[in-house]
Amino acid sequence: MPRMTDWVLITGGSRGIGAATALRCAMAGWDVAINFAQDSAAAETLAGRLHALGRRVLALQADVADEAQVAAMFERLDAAGGRLGGLVNNAGIVAPVARLEAMGMARWQRLFNVNVMGTLLCCQQAARRMSTRTGGTGGSIVNISSRAAEFGSGGIYVDYAATKGAVDTLTKGLARELIGEGIRVNGVRPGVIETEIHATSGIDVVASGVAATIPIQRLGRADEVAEAIAWLLSDAASYTVGALLDVGGGR
Ligand code: NAP
Repeated sequence: MPRMTDWVLITGGSRGIGAATALRCAMAGWDVAINFAQDSAAAETLAGRLHALGRRVLALQADVADEAQVAAMFERLDAAGGRLGGLVNNAGIVAPVARLEAMGMARWQRLFNVNVMGTLLCCQQAARRMSTRTGGTGGSIVNISSRAAEFGSGGIYVDYAATKGAVDTLTKGLARELIGEGIRVNGVRPGVIETEIHATSGIDVVASGVAATIPIQRLGRADEVAEAIAWLLSDAASYTVGALLDVGGGR
């Protein structure tokens, strides 16, 4: 279990799956730092709910794709005092539905910068603080991927799916690299979860009838993904290393 002075940092923690994870972690006893990119109103509203659960809370604005902003975010967390015990790399974006021939470099660079570089940068900062090799006391990292990493999202957004494939490979490699230093790295691969992310892709996940294509016959909820993330973060998952946990209703 986390100790009283343990922080968990959740990137993209102000809305959707990240916000549900923040609430679940606060209930489990973590102090919670929520990162966001732009929507400070959503971050402040959630911070109020987390405070009400009796936890220390930080709302940290930073674009995870920006190395300097990520470094500054971790320094603000250091300044708050206490130990960084958990990191959830959840910040992620999709792009409008398109076929490959209609995509372009600017779109690919933004997708890879946020979804992959953002995860790399935050893992790097966290590992420097958590690793027993550099004076830390260990920790747990959970990278949020997608079932799209396996299916590839042909005709929808193959580039987004490719970013999540990269995240999965990073999770498996980093898990083996860091476990000897007290850091467990795992991944969660959600299926279709009802959040605001789909507005960017242009897919109306409710009206499109996608639920009927999922074995469980419904969309997932953010709190159902949060439960898996919170378990992987916790000591209850002490022998789980490099796992990719699918939370997709059978999909
Ligand atoms: P969401 O509702 O759109 O929320 C995204 C969160 O990420 C917001 O807090 C947003 O902050 C933040 N964010 C976006 N870009 C950022 C950046 N560059 N730097 C820092 N924060 C940033 O998304 P979600 O549906 O909860 O998805 C969360 C994760 O789950 C993503 O990695 C996504 O790929 C993955 N996933 C989602 C689904 C699904 O069906 N929902 C399925 C599979 C995987 P602002 O509000 O300030 O922009």
